[in-house]
Amino acid sequence: MTDSPNPIRRGPFPPSASRPVGTPLQPSVVYAAESPDALDAQYEGRARGYAYAREGHPNADVLAGMIDGLEGAEGGIVTGSGMAAVAAVMMGLCRAGDHVLGGDQLYGRSLRMMREDLPRLGIATDLVDPTDAGAVAAAIRPETRLMLVEVVSNPTLRVADMEGIARVCADRGVLLVVDNTFTTPRGYRPFDHGADIVVHSVTKLLAGHSDATLGYAAARDPALREAMRVFAITAGLTPSPFDCWLAERGLYSFALRYDRAEANAARLADHLASLPGVTRVLYPTRPDHPDHNRATALLGARGGNMVSFEITGGRDAANRLVRAAPQIAFAPTLGDVATTLSHPPSSSHRALTPEARAALGISEGFFRVSVGVEDIDRLLGDFTTAIAAVGR
Ligand SMILES: *Cc1c(COP(=O)(O)O)cnc(C)c1O
Repeated sequence: MTDSPNPIRRGPFPPSASRPVGTPLQPSVVYAAESPDALDAQYEGRARGYAYAREGHPNADVLAGMIDGLEGAEGGIVTGSGMAAVAAVMMGLCRAGDHVLGGDQLYGRSLRMMREDLPRLGIATDLVDPTDAGAVAAAIRPETRLMLVEVVSNPTLRVADMEGIARVCADRGVLLVVDNTFTTPRGYRPFDHGADIVVHSVTKLLAGHSDATLGYAAARDPALREAMRVFAITAGLTPSPFDCWLAERGLYSFALRYDRAEANAARLADHLASLPGVTRVLYPTRPDHPDHNRATALLGARGGNMVSFEITGGRDAANRLVRAAPQIAFAPTLGDVATTLSHPPSSSHRALTPEARAALGISEGFFRVSVGVEDIDRLLGDFTTAIAAVGR
């Protein structure tokens, strides 16, 4: 049979004298080289090219280059999730016998990696209060390899003593790893303040549309960069072209989205504080924030898009509030274009005992808002209605 009704030989891509304006999506898993010599040239760095998508593809490189630009980094890698980026740092750079420090209010999965997975692999860990550089200094051991810290904590929005920690880490030869997901390079650029490594959950504000799960990691030292890259390839932490393509598109509006969401968040924080029934509002640039001075020194007026608040009345009141705001997605994520509401006691912090939550200041009436870019008057109105419903 020569005239196959089902041809599987792929024809050439239609040629075009003009070039596409939008970035082409390239989902190909494999790349055909011209010859074994050409493949050698590629692997030996004498020619640029791709071979296999787990080892790299154009859409990942385009996205990584854009985030490098925002962070003032070079040679960053995009990973299949934010946690894949954290894993690339930990597994790519640490060995059994090392000691790792983490902030005590890190993202839940990062905490789990510190508490369960690293110790299982022979890497000792300790969690310390990142608002206290003295406590960080006291926890450092001769074998401490790195410290992972988030600038603004979840969900109480405490601001870490980044200057103090950077000084202590530099003095003691500890790599400073900053998870910059909440602050984003628009609020804080860790490499300008002594960080050695920056990681992101690109899933959140950078991509911004809740439709792509991705991460990013970059190191100042090329040797560390290469170690993370090789481990990410070996462990398959690398991203899908489609996700990279979506995130790239999201990134073009990142600055506009961030600025708008931040302005909305500052307005919402003040509005919530004015409503009867709201007992506490947390927002870094408000004068009543526990780290207000440090927030101002570190972030200036950039308070970010996250606001937390507390109401009285326990779980019943929390249920009433969420039900009275059906237009605001009750979802434990952040950084979407639309405002989302989360309730840490029933989601991110549900594994903690009520006593442990109370120690962090998280009651059953505690909510965290990831503020989006919608019309501010509408947003304020939604919260006015939702909070009024609590008292009824
Ligand atoms: C969401 C998040 C992560 C994990 O990112 P994923 O993309 O969900 O894997 C890590 N750190 C912070 C601060 C986050 O908010």
